[in-house]
Amino acid sequence: MPELAEVETTRKDLSKIIEGKVINRVSVYLDKIVYNKKEEFIKKIEGQTVNKVKRRGKWLIFELDKNCLIIHFRMEGRFYYLPIDAKKDKHDYVIFYFDDFSLHYNDPRLFGKMEVIEKNEIDKFFLDKKLGLEYTDPKLTPIYLKEKFKTHHTDIKKMLLDQSFITGIGNIYADEILFASKINPKSYADKLTKPKLQEIINNTKKVFEHSLKYKGTYPNIDGKRGTFEEHLMVHMREGKKCYECGTIIKKEKVGGRGTYYCPKCQRRV
Ligand SMILES: [Zn+2]
Repeated sequence: MPELAEVETTRKDLSKIIEGKVINRVSVYLDKIVYNKKEEFIKKIEGQTVNKVKRRGKWLIFELDKNCLIIHFRMEGRFYYLPIDAKKDKHDYVIFYFDDFSLHYNDPRLFGKMEVIEKNEIDKFFLDKKLGLEYTDPKLTPIYLKEKFKTHHTDIKKMLLDQSFITGIGNIYADEILFASKINPKSYADKLTKPKLQEIINNTKKVFEHSLKYKGTYPNIDGKRGTFEEHLMVHMREGKKCYECGTIIKKEKVGGRGTYYCPKCQRRV
């Protein structure tokens, strides 16, 4: 599933290709991907320039002349770009045509969503989604997390996946951040000390920036897969030895999600 590092990689790559370019035509092949009425969606996009490609949490935003196009990849949505006359894949559901290339939105699981909204609605849109802070936000401090977690006597892993505290963390990165912070995923969020919360903040930055360097874990717009998977410390490493202590990595369900951790390095608080 694309998380912050994957969406940010897409944002960076797309910004180089589509910023300043006009979307001449849009084809929608599956209505349910688009939140607006199909005709309205097309009308509001065609002929507009993509001025800026932005990101908020796991949402991608194309800032157009008059509106904003907001995209969420959910399980397996992705963009890739091709020559303008390229054949459509059976899972390409929306295609944007520029002067000399086309941008295909592909989504085999059909969970992704797109919506065009007015520019002045954007703050309200994200307020309604109750998104928490970006990992780069200076307001993200141990005091902020302590305050947010104090009424949550529940697994820290679950809290990291909740987009209303820190936004952008999904299953892969929650496991990696907790390993780097030497915190057991089932530790109670309300019991974590400020120094431990500071470690979570520091490691969120470290893990995301490390992943961005390798372009995430997901196929990118040029079709090449990011290689951060090769650098994962615990996620998807069940039964293998911990790189730091040699203990066998365990997998169990925490907060409803398959969770990987080292039982020795990550003792329960
Ligand atoms: Zn270990």
